[in-house]
Amino acid sequence: MLLENFCPRSKLVTKTTLVDKPRFPVIDAHNHLANPFGGGWDAPRKPLSELLDLLDEAGVTHYVDLDGGWGEEILYRHLDIFKAKAPERFQIFGGVDWSKWESMGDAFPEWATGRLNVQKEAGAQGLKIWKGFGLHVKDQNGQLVKVDDARLSPLWDAAGELGLPVLVHVADPVAFFDPIDETNERWEEIGQHPDWAFSSPPFPPFMEIMNGFKNLVTRHSLTTFIGAHVGCYAENLEWVGQMLDACPNYYVDISARFGELGRQPYKARKFFIQYQDRILYGSDMGPDLDVYRLNYRLLETDDEYFNYNAGDIPQQGRWHVNGLFLPNEVLKKIYNENARKVLRI
Ligand SMILES: [Zn+2]
Repeated sequence: MLLENFCPRSKLVTKTTLVDKPRFPVIDAHNHLANPFGGGWDAPRKPLSELLDLLDEAGVTHYVDLDGGWGEEILYRHLDIFKAKAPERFQIFGGVDWSKWESMGDAFPEWATGRLNVQKEAGAQGLKIWKGFGLHVKDQNGQLVKVDDARLSPLWDAAGELGLPVLVHVADPVAFFDPIDETNERWEEIGQHPDWAFSSPPFPPFMEIMNGFKNLVTRHSLTTFIGAHVGCYAENLEWVGQMLDACPNYYVDISARFGELGRQPYKARKFFIQYQDRILYGSDMGPDLDVYRLNYRLLETDDEYFNYNAGDIPQQGRWHVNGLFLPNEVLKKIYNENARKVLRI
């Protein structure tokens, strides 16, 4: 038998709680409706009513769609397909078209800032920064743009002035930056997605990106930032907590990191309680009922040692998770109250 076929079944006799509905209404503050990587919604073939029914069944009252794209064309499409038909259910975030930097040169930051104004006027309710920032985005000289590059200051300040929260995903799981060998805890995942390997060099080291991100959020204290995926560093909640302590304008979403949170349940539970005013729920896996229910199970129950994915084999590393049984007052804030404040819903 090959090691990759080894699929042990736990013989633990433990309880399984099915959480059909979340204990409080949920705002999904990080998700997608047309992302080729993380689920989505096949708008041309599936009616919107089907999506709304699914969200109702999942107890999701508001859904943040981060797929407004880079230019305005995709943003307009999402505003038209989703927002216009159910304005109270969807918030669509815009983006920055970094590819223009090469041809526009020094004029790029001002141009990008201008596009933000246009997107806001069209109906965008936030700005999504994708992980290419810090890993792939280059300036007119072909130089990698650092996350805390001062040339972009007008863009971040404008987001603050326009009241648009900036949801940032920089770096990726720490193991994606490590050598891909037998010690790498995400070896199987990187094998399936070779483009997710960011070994340094040529990529900047993980901590260089993270420290740049901290500089950025610190310098623009009047702009609200949301660090995606537990502040892009779910493996080190201590570090994320220190950044939350240092930056009152900073929030984190917990999307796509339930495997990380649930494998350090004591630390994670303390983190949720300590930073209960700064954490937003997000799924990131498209509108998927099974995923929502698994997320609710992790946050609400004290179930032990279960797969954080719906499938047989955990997708982000072969470990299992334990429920965090968060108190009601904490759950309520994470499910909706914090998002209401940050997203101005
Ligand atoms: Zn996402």
